[in-house]
Amino acid sequence: MSQVQSARDLDRDLILSADTVVVGSGAGGAVVATERALRGERVVVLEEGPSVSAALLGSMRPSESLRHVWRDGAFTLAIGVGDSPSINVTMGRCIGGSSVLTGAVCFRTPDHVLDHWTSVLKLRDYTERGMDRYFERVEKAIHVEEVPAEMRSRSTQLFALGARRTGLEMQPMRRNTRGCNGCGRCNFGCPHQAKMSVDLSYLPRAMAAGAEVWSHCLVQRVLRKGDRAVGVEGRTLGPDGRPSRRLVVHARRVVLAAGAWHTPLLLRSSGLGRPELVGHRMTLHPGFRVLARFDSPVQGWQGALQSGWVGDLEPQGITLLSLFVPPGVLGSTMPGVGPEHTSNARHIGHLAMFGGILHDEGGGSLYRTPGREPLALYRMAPRDRARIPTLIRALARSFFAAGAREVFLPVLGLRGVDADAFARLDLERIPMNRIECASQHPLGSAQMGAFPEHSVVDPDGKLWGMDSLYIADGSIVPTSLGVNPQLSIMAIATRIADRMR
Ligand SMILES: Cc1cc2nc3c(=O)[nH]c(=O)nc-3n(C[C@H](O)[C@H](O)[C@H](O)COP(=O)(O)OP(=O)(O)OC[C@H]3O[C@@H](n4cnc5c(N)ncnc54)[C@H](O)[C@@H]3O)c2cc1C
Ligand code: SF4
Repeated sequence: MSQVQSARDLDRDLILSADTVVVGSGAGGAVVATERALRGERVVVLEEGPSVSAALLGSMRPSESLRHVWRDGAFTLAIGVGDSPSINVTMGRCIGGSSVLTGAVCFRTPDHVLDHWTSVLKLRDYTERGMDRYFERVEKAIHVEEVPAEMRSRSTQLFALGARRTGLEMQPMRRNTRGCNGCGRCNFGCPHQAKMSVDLSYLPRAMAAGAEVWSHCLVQRVLRKGDRAVGVEGRTLGPDGRPSRRLVVHARRVVLAAGAWHTPLLLRSSGLGRPELVGHRMTLHPGFRVLARFDSPVQGWQGALQSGWVGDLEPQGITLLSLFVPPGVLGSTMPGVGPEHTSNARHIGHLAMFGGILHDEGGGSLYRTPGREPLALYRMAPRDRARIPTLIRALARSFFAAGAREVFLPVLGLRGVDADAFARLDLERIPMNRIECASQHPLGSAQMGAFPEHSVVDPDGKLWGMDSLYIADGSIVPTSLGVNPQLSIMAIATRIADRMR
């Protein structure tokens, strides 16, 4: 079968058998499934979400896309504990997983992060040289290319100008695109099949090699015999989205790739892994954005959504990244209500935007609830809290240096501020519960490590103490990366697939 099969309308139980069953069809799962199928194994991929074509993605308004393709309509929250901001954590829930929603940004794992993994965490094979071939393989498969300067939006150009005047240098971004026309819809799925997400780059190759890929399949538990994983079970999801028929896949090997938000839940519901480690130490790359109003038109939605980044602040744990959102979404984020909001929203054509993420410590924990989604808590480390004002200042100062009239900061209840008002603002004294914060990068909730006492899986992705059960998604990434993670996840998944016995 060379197409995704849907379990939605099945009027029977779905009972299958395979060499390898992969739970989750996102960045990690699709890579392992393809690599194993290309070796001649019978592979079954089970995905909870639907399959969404480019045409359908193109026909949906952003608000429709949020409901159909994003998990929980993009309202997923990690609740801030203590003096921490609450963080809106977004994920994809469809064939291709979150890779369908990316801005296509591709970074290799930074060298200093790999150095930490090898020297401090003793993950000895994760050297720059050791990982090079896996990165190369993935980059070829998903067509990573540098965004040409002429595709930079005016929003990004203005930021680059201001950044340079404040001593920061913008670098060109690399993205997994082929034939991108810069329409700027990436985060709602590419309508032109130009973003090489795994539903386009990997899964078709897996299916051509005989893999079965099923949508509307919710896995609830790993089946085991003693210390061996022998398959998974769950429910198909019917037309109303509710659990419907029984789902069982018998397999010699189980690969969990349900993402950092859900893989720990599957481990817990199956009684696997050490409870004090599973679902804890999750990092999020807490992200912040600053908008800036200019006198001249910006039309920041024209051009590649993400085309430049600034790495000069990495020693302070900060990476600055270009971003933008469609005009309708932008209008709704402007402050004020009634006439004040209307007046602010009138300026959207004159707004530029830039963002930044923190290379955070693992302060997140996930807990099972009676419902489908976990309860997520996040306690931000004091070190990371102290970095938020630095990040916001770097963004705002760059925009002022480029001639911005006023900036809109990620602070709830704060109106636009001009340069004088900004200079007077005591950012350090703003309580964390007023800081607007978002994350697209949950990682590290079932970490890989060299020692079973401190980690959930071994350096090859195999669950400690359990045969034939692997994890190959963002949950095993052992520290935050400080850069967008899809390429790292895919390279690690490639290595895991290579080393499976
Ligand atoms: C809006 C957005 C923009 C992003 N932009 C970038 C970017 O530009 N560059 C970058 O590097 N990264 C980006 N990311 C992050 C990147 O997409 C993720 O880090 C990566 O896709 C995670 O891979 P994964 O395999 O861990 O999980 P996912 O890709 O999220 O895949 C997990 C899949 O498992 C499915 N699933 C979960 N539980 C079950 C279950 N019980 N049964 C069956 N299926 C299940 C989910 O529905 C999902 O499809 C972005 C993410 C988002 C949300
Ligand atoms: S900007 Fe390029 S990759 Fe993004 S949605 Fe448009 S065509 Fe696709």
